[in-house]
Amino acid sequence: MVSKKRIALVTGGMGGLGEAICFKLAALGYTVVTTYSPGNTRAQQWLQTMKAQGFEFHAYACDVTDWESCQACVRKLVAELGPVDVLVNNAGITRDMTFKKMDKINWDSVMHTNLDSCFNMAKQVCDGMVDRSWGRIINISSVNGQKGAFGQTNYSAAKAGMHGFTKALALEVARKGVTVNTISPGYIGTKMVTAIPKEVLDAKIIPQIPIGRLGKPEEVAGLVAYLASEEAAFVTGANIAINGGQHMQ
Ligand code: NDP
Repeated sequence: MVSKKRIALVTGGMGGLGEAICFKLAALGYTVVTTYSPGNTRAQQWLQTMKAQGFEFHAYACDVTDWESCQACVRKLVAELGPVDVLVNNAGITRDMTFKKMDKINWDSVMHTNLDSCFNMAKQVCDGMVDRSWGRIINISSVNGQKGAFGQTNYSAAKAGMHGFTKALALEVARKGVTVNTISPGYIGTKMVTAIPKEVLDAKIIPQIPIGRLGKPEEVAGLVAYLASEEAAFVTGANIAINGGQHMQ
């Protein structure tokens, strides 16, 4: 359990991975706050379902691609709950197509949602973490940012960029009690992946994974919990792979 009631903000916390991260951090005693897209009509229902399961999550509408939306979201959160101790930049999208078909809209939307969001959100909380001499910023990247992936020039570039951001910011705040790390999951069994046709999963994806199965959201959540903990104070600027052996660096 966390010794002090810390506040953890998980962007995209109502998604497949985000939800598992919210569960894990709540179980460890964090006050858990999630964001959802302003157009998400299922957000209130999700909160009610969670409440019925015993989870008192807080949720704020926020478009992570939009600077002003992030600023307004974090200002409101801080005024209502207090400062953010742990930021998990988890919101992300894919818009897969070969480079030949890639258009500017699908390039930009992936860059804005996966990469610009890290700046937009970290900027709202980082100075406060430095002032309080404690903070954790955890960026959820992807194995495809490490190795590249066919049809994902946009996503691979954005996810690789996240780790560049991690390393540079980690250097700047290392002496201030704030750690910044990247997690690079492989294929995890969330909607993002299970939407892939089963025959493609069985024939093309699972055979690439030495462990022989998709990862579980709870396995990624466990790593987030570790990086958020006191014990992880000496881990910064790292890119931690969690991919069943699919890609080893
Ligand atoms: P989901 O699609 O289930 O969740 C993505 C979340 O991002 C949603 O909660 C969504 O919120 C949020 N989001 C998207 N766009 C915006 C936006 N503009 N503003 C605010 N929130 C937004 O995906 P996963 O849970 O599978 O993925 C989570 C993260 O993990 C992503 O960054 C993904 O790239 C990464 N990842 C996932 C892997 C996997 O195998 N699943 C593997 C490697 C990395 P809303 O529904 O409210 O729009």
